[in-house]
Amino acid sequence: MERKRILTGDRPTGKLHLGHYLGSLQNRVRLQEEYECFFIIADLHTLTTKPGKENIAQIAGNARQMVLDYLSCGIDPEQAVIYLQSAVPEIYEMNLIFEMMVSVPRLQRVPSLKDMAKSAHLNEMPFGLLGYPVLQAADILMPRANLVPVGKDNESHVELTREIARKFNYMYGDVFPIPDVLVGEVGSLVGTDGNAKMSKSLNNCIYISDDAKTVKKKIFGMYTDPNRISADIPGTVEGNPVFIYHDVFNKNLAEVEDLKTRYREGRVGDVEVKEKLYIAVNEMLEPIRERRALYEDKSGLVDEVIFDGTMKMRAEARDTIRQMKKAMGLSGVWNSISRKAEKVKKKRQ
Ligand code: ATP
Ligand code: MG
Repeated sequence: MERKRILTGDRPTGKLHLGHYLGSLQNRVRLQEEYECFFIIADLHTLTTKPGKENIAQIAGNARQMVLDYLSCGIDPEQAVIYLQSAVPEIYEMNLIFEMMVSVPRLQRVPSLKDMAKSAHLNEMPFGLLGYPVLQAADILMPRANLVPVGKDNESHVELTREIARKFNYMYGDVFPIPDVLVGEVGSLVGTDGNAKMSKSLNNCIYISDDAKTVKKKIFGMYTDPNRISADIPGTVEGNPVFIYHDVFNKNLAEVEDLKTRYREGRVGDVEVKEKLYIAVNEMLEPIRERRALYEDKSGLVDEVIFDGTMKMRAEARDTIRQMKKAMGLSGVWNSISRKAEKVKKKRQ
């Protein structure tokens, strides 16, 4: 039996951080044997907020770093189809067809888009940014994916993909599966500054590729309970980013409970709490670093992975587009006209 398919990916805007890991990457690693995996380097999505030539000039370098992050985290380069979105022309085609299947007010209700426009300091919504989830629907449905592992902020986008797939199937016939969303263990990881979302643009990230020294510095600089100016003042654990991280990264549950109790009672210093968190995070990152070093030694490997993946995806995309246009009767229009034209030309000879 054919394996079911996963589609997910990231925008090549820089290195991946722990939020990406917990929101999506961890699930990809966990499910890569069970599912056939397609990972998109979503560079066209980058253009929705960063269309400048200087931004485009950074895509290749960022994409290489990002794929290195994937492989370091345990993605198998022999199995996964990792491809560059802008190099698959059919995605642009499918995007246009899907634009006919969704209303402007529906898109205006997608919560993440306003946030994205705001954090990109755009005072007017670009047409392309409003269409972000439509393009994402094309990404997901191009390999006819069944499952989409993403962070919480992307859940509403996958919902729209499901609507588009249903509408297409209803109007033209069954072409697409209705994909399920899978949100990671932590749907939205807080930043080191206590901000609701760890995000590159907010400068509150611990990167998967950070070395031990950098991780230590970031953890010791983390936001905690601001009312606790000395170790003997009882502190709040709930919503405290340092303890949120302990809950996620520290496998020693008894240690976490003990720290929480003493923190609440004003019997532990921040230094101890943060030192133990640092050890836990570092333990998680160490095998990732080791794998990264191995892959970094193989020059050109990442480029080859992207190249091969893109070639595979192109073949896959041609197949999906063919099915799609056939179901719509759209390929029939051209077929009918070109056949007639050929006949006429032959006769004239
Ligand atoms: P950043 O804000 O750091 O640029 P992003 O959200 O723009 O990150 P994308 O490339 O759009 O990054 O998203 C990649 C995937 O990572 C998505 O599935 C998204 O939901 C997930 N993700 C990003 N940040 C977090 C986070 N802090 N917690 C959980 N998941 C996240
Ligand atoms: Mg981003």
